[in-house]
Amino acid sequence: MFNIKNMKVLIAEMVDKKVVEKIKAQCNVDEKYKLSHEELLKIIPEYNAIIIRSETQVNRSFLDAAVNLKIVGRAGSGLDNIDIDYATKKGVIVANTPESNIVSAAEQTMTLLLATSRNTVWANNTIKSGKWDRKKFIGSELYQKTLGIIGLGRIGGLISERAKGFGMNLIAYDPYISDSRFEKYGVEKKNSIEELVKESDFITIHTPRTEETIDIISDKEIELMKDGVRLVNVARGGLYNEDALYRGMKSGKIASVGIDVWMTEPQETHPLYEFNTMIGTPHLGASTREAQFRVGDEVANEVLAGLKGEIVKNAVNIPSVSDSTFVKLKTFIALSEKMGRIYSQIKREGIKKIGLSFGGNEISNKEDVKVLSLVAIKGILDSTVPETVNFVNANYIAEQRGIEIKESIELDTGDYNNLMKITIEDISGDKFEIEGTVLEKKYPRIVRIGEFELDLVPEGKLVYLPHRNVPGVIGRVGIKMSEFNVNISKMIVSDSKENGSIMILTVDNNMPDILVENLKNIDEIKDVKVINL
Ligand code: NAD
Repeated sequence: MFNIKNMKVLIAEMVDKKVVEKIKAQCNVDEKYKLSHEELLKIIPEYNAIIIRSETQVNRSFLDAAVNLKIVGRAGSGLDNIDIDYATKKGVIVANTPESNIVSAAEQTMTLLLATSRNTVWANNTIKSGKWDRKKFIGSELYQKTLGIIGLGRIGGLISERAKGFGMNLIAYDPYISDSRFEKYGVEKKNSIEELVKESDFITIHTPRTEETIDIISDKEIELMKDGVRLVNVARGGLYNEDALYRGMKSGKIASVGIDVWMTEPQETHPLYEFNTMIGTPHLGASTREAQFRVGDEVANEVLAGLKGEIVKNAVNIPSVSDSTFVKLKTFIALSEKMGRIYSQIKREGIKKIGLSFGGNEISNKEDVKVLSLVAIKGILDSTVPETVNFVNANYIAEQRGIEIKESIELDTGDYNNLMKITIEDISGDKFEIEGTVLEKKYPRIVRIGEFELDLVPEGKLVYLPHRNVPGVIGRVGIKMSEFNVNISKMIVSDSKENGSIMILTVDNNMPDILVENLKNIDEIKDVKVINL
């Protein structure tokens, strides 16, 4: 992993002060706000990372100018201001923080559901204007009403948990998720938007804004709804057609609407503002202290990970990993990359095929395999190809070079609880195999290289010495090392029936080239490779 002390991060849009301090503790940080695009183009070549929100345009001209950029950290979830495809081609990681504000957005949804159904804002305005009127504000309970949720993703799921607490019946429409997600949240699945709107007393939407979801609720759907239906939108403006909402409110078909997000933002006037039964907020879904801090903190973690060459949890142009997967796979991820790097420092041949097999309870699904394969491929290609390889472009570079990749999840783990095996076939048909395991969930070990069984801790500086298994070799190697003042802190020797032995030394000092040459000159030593992990 890289030392990032000399790296430079530009914070171009405001994040929490504590977050700035956190990044400053590890590398150089400049805070420069409100720069024009042209001003940004001038200074961006000197930066390795940038933190933005929704205003900075990370487009082609920006990415062409950003010759040293490794990662764009978007504090928030929307990515409309970033050309992700072009960033991927340029090998720049793009990461956002999609989970940092979901609780705040879910609570804002509950706020609007409750406040619209009890006329809270209207009553508040009335009492403050000196009137005490109680009859006008008779509302309705959530209890035992049917809540229709459109989009049962992260926020939709949180809404179902919260609404259950109010005793609501839950139905949802989301054609893109498995039935098990409906079961997990105890929500009845509806197969069409029409079915959902017909049965709901309250409707809330939690989808992204796409061609398919814009106007997903319009006149036709409102017509099918129950009289007195109540609607809330804390997702994106335009998912409910605003003109149709107006007509529904005017006719009395809709009893109330709560809207946090608008087709055009900001806006000073809107026809819907005329209704006392409409509560509007200026896109406040993520506006809590907690979410603001979390957004900054998460983006800081991602930027620091990206600079260090580690897996970036919410990168959108490489496989992303959930918190639980990340915790579960952390040691496997590090081991997988090291297995790849061991190959690239021992062999460094043109590669034809890479086979990656995994087994054991911890590596349980295709997503796990995708992540572990990616890091292994990055490790393998790192010093094997001339391009700079990172998690964004590793698969792309492998594809460009016609390297065939084969993954499997059915490896027999033998005596181990889990096992990873990488087989690399080079263009001359030679095969290199390496196996690794994680002991007690936290101790990575290389357990085989070729036909040599080992118990190697993959860290630090290693010297790999295949040799003939005859008396005196180990002694001669030891003497040479001491002549050059290189301390051996660990040594592993393994032999095979046909191919002699290997010695792997863990050393405390750098290996001078001349020492490597001296070792190669020992008759019984077949090769010397220095491996840095
Ligand atoms: P998510 O990706 O976890 O979930 C979205 C769900 O919508 C997915 O399950 C998807 O399958 C479903 N979906 C997509 N197209 C659909 C369609 N045509 N019909 C039905 N379902 C469909 O997203 P999330 O994190 O839960 O966020 C939901 C929305 O909330 C997003 O639009 C996000 O931008 C918005 N949001 C707003 C605020 C705010 O400040 N108001 C804050 C955070 C998030």
